[in-house]
Amino acid sequence: MNIMSKQWKILLTDGLEENGQAILKKSAEVVNQPMITPEELLQVVNEYDAMIVRGRTKVIPDVFKAASKMKVVGRAGVGVDNIDLKAAKEHKVTVVNSPMATTIAVAELAMGLMLALIREIPRSDAGMKAGKWLKKEMAGTELNGKTLGVIGYGRIGSCTAERAKAFGMKIIAYDPLLKANEIKERGADPVSLDDLYNKADMITLHVPMTAETKGMLNTTAFNKMKKGVFIICAARGGVIDEDALLAALESGHVAGAGLDVFATEPPGQTALVSHPKVIAVPHIGAQTAEAQERAAEDIATEVLAALNGDPLRWKVA
Ligand code: NAD
Repeated sequence: MNIMSKQWKILLTDGLEENGQAILKKSAEVVNQPMITPEELLQVVNEYDAMIVRGRTKVIPDVFKAASKMKVVGRAGVGVDNIDLKAAKEHKVTVVNSPMATTIAVAELAMGLMLALIREIPRSDAGMKAGKWLKKEMAGTELNGKTLGVIGYGRIGSCTAERAKAFGMKIIAYDPLLKANEIKERGADPVSLDDLYNKADMITLHVPMTAETKGMLNTTAFNKMKKGVFIICAARGGVIDEDALLAALESGHVAGAGLDVFATEPPGQTALVSHPKVIAVPHIGAQTAEAQERAAEDIATEVLAALNGDPLRWKVA
């Protein structure tokens, strides 16, 4: 081990699986403060060379301002919308993430939500637990032969599509940042957004939260969709206009929605969460043992690489 390497001090603000902590501890002092408040963070952050967060910690400009020694912020997972990248740049702090780790977990959840929706698995189970045999009410449909519209055809979008294909679905995809042949190579027909709305029986969102994607599924978008469409969102809550979705569910234009993410988290018992045609889960897309271990290993390795000036695989800023 490099004699100088123990100089690093790393703060974990949202926890990290043991395997990731073990990697860090070989060459750094690691402080695990998973319950740290924003106020406490501002007080202690200047002691650290690096910090690793998940989605809970908001790394806002004030954090960068206070973090005089900070060289790198690591995000265990994909989404970096809780990290102010502009402030990171201004303060010359590198931001890295672990984008490969959670792909399969989120894709499998998207499949789970699709199946749960069209077969009404939660309602059937609730009936059984209440002593009711709802067999006659459970007239489901099949994924086989249906068209899945994937918005955002990156890692998770295409991984979900691969699985949906195994269920006999036809895949169409909209992703303005990919070339048509890249989308084709990943097994989908590239289409315009309007085309996707027009043709899809089920729509799944896998876009990052950006100025363009914020609220992209709004009333205008819902009106362009087929009546009876199902919506799946395990991307970010804000990409759906939740009032517009609720109205589309109430009118019956949207037949059901499977939601892992919400504009405000936790959302509480909102009308959307409580709606009988909604299956809501508490942002569990990446919550598998395998994904968390992969994320911990990837981010620990990447943060140490950034501290040591080694080449980076997943530099975000
Ligand atoms: P990715 O970067 O591989 O894919 C995102 C795709 O969206 C890219 O191909 C990009 O070109 C496309 N895109 C960007 N703007 C778009 C737009 N306006 N319209 C359509 N497509 C657009 O990322 P990924 O690993 O597939 O992750 C996707 C998102 O999933 C993340 O940004 C994150 O918000 C979310 N996520 C959620 C969970 C969870 O727990 N539910 C876990 C991991 C990631």
